[in-house]
Amino acid sequence: MTYIHDTIVKLQKTSPAQAEFYQAVEEVLDSLQPILETNEKYKKHAIIERMVEPERQIMFRVPWVDDQGNVQVNKGYRIEFNSALGPYKGGLRFHPSVNAGIIKFLGFEQIFKNALTGLPIGGGKGGANFDPKGKSDGEIMRFCQSFINELYRHIGPTTDVPAGDIGVGAREIGYMFGQYKRLTGNYDGVFTGKSLLWGGSLVRKEATGYGCVYFAQYMLEAKGDTLAGKRCLVSGAGNVAIYTIEKLYQLGAIPVTCSDSSGTIYHETGINLETLKELKEVRKVRLNEYVTAHPEAKFIPAADYPADGHAVWRIPAQLAFPCATQNELTEADAQALIANGVIGVSEGANMPSTQEAVEVFLDARISYGPGKAANAGGVATSQLEMAQNASMQRWSFEEVDEKLKVIMKNIFLSASETAAEFGEPHNLVLGANIAGFRKVADAMIEQGVV
Ligand code: NAP
Repeated sequence: MTYIHDTIVKLQKTSPAQAEFYQAVEEVLDSLQPILETNEKYKKHAIIERMVEPERQIMFRVPWVDDQGNVQVNKGYRIEFNSALGPYKGGLRFHPSVNAGIIKFLGFEQIFKNALTGLPIGGGKGGANFDPKGKSDGEIMRFCQSFINELYRHIGPTTDVPAGDIGVGAREIGYMFGQYKRLTGNYDGVFTGKSLLWGGSLVRKEATGYGCVYFAQYMLEAKGDTLAGKRCLVSGAGNVAIYTIEKLYQLGAIPVTCSDSSGTIYHETGINLETLKELKEVRKVRLNEYVTAHPEAKFIPAADYPADGHAVWRIPAQLAFPCATQNELTEADAQALIANGVIGVSEGANMPSTQEAVEVFLDARISYGPGKAANAGGVATSQLEMAQNASMQRWSFEEVDEKLKVIMKNIFLSASETAAEFGEPHNLVLGANIAGFRKVADAMIEQGVV
């Protein structure tokens, strides 16, 4: 369709060298073809052209002093992408690979994900090319304070509400919230993922991982199957991976892998969750230390991975949960998964499967839950945190978990019913993209050219 093609060509000219962003846009626009072809109004109102251009992009210098007294400088970002449905909402990522294209891909995905939750939140994302690994608490605090010295003027509980992502957990949110409060004098719900001691919500920490497993459960249920007894591959060893593993155990499945950038752990009888939490949440060390406590498990160093993919996806199992980062599952990985009999993939990470890998899953007709649907439990529970903050209430763990389950079920139904409506019932990529798009696009039309 030339409209879609022209939009991408134009984007490559106006936003050069942003490969991940084009990838995310192309995936969404491809699946919007059926709705764009039958609805002239979206073209008439230039909805696609407006959607791919962020409402506001903030880029700033983040200077800070390391423990040796040297001045360091990083680059900070906040992309306020779309506020048709509510205040901008989306995490902050601190990782050396961060650049404008990565934050824009994440922000673009966030628009549709947030719309799918059915909650009143717009899409945004931010971060910095800062590497928290190996930094002292003092260095992390000084970096976070400097980051907020600029960002505080752009955020607020009804304008833009950041949260965590890769490299940003409760510690970083604490330092950023503290500095925001000092600069503004406001004690408000301007961040989510806060500590339970001062405004955080129960289940927020667990929400993305739990939600991703609930999504897999609903996909299986629709085919008369369950998670019980299923061997599962999980990648990553951070927040999303840990709570995916926890929920898999609670629902009777057997997670046998986890990974970080140094390598993959394969524990045939099941990953020991207590050891994993101790290594990653408490000691914050590399994953190879896992085998010290469990010598029967195997550590596959990243250097030994196949040239065309990742070791974790070459292990036989029935379900896969990519929970680390973008493009961590290649076409060859996807083919290996299918050859080994995988029946379902539920994405905890954002865009972890390459476009070619997604095609392999869709062609094989397995249950495939794309990240923007399967990992939306995190942002949905962030909105529940905002609702508790605004009403000065605190809900119980069971109450929040129940709401999370209902939201994940509704996301699954919305994606699968929309996929069926457009004649491709197995295609949740198409279903999720169209369902999210329709809400945002119609809201934009009603709000006029702004
Ligand atoms: P995290 O706690 O920082 O953990 C990230 C994990 O992925 C770590 O084990 C990390 O290993 C690994 N990883 C990151 N970059 C990597 C790379 N380039 N190569 C290999 N491994 C890499 O982050 P998280 O919050 O779990 O986020 C994981 C994914 O879920 C991301 O795609 C994020 O956008 C998505 N997500 C998160 C949330 C949320 O609520 N946190 C919500 C929705 C989606 P190392 O420590 O060795 O780098």
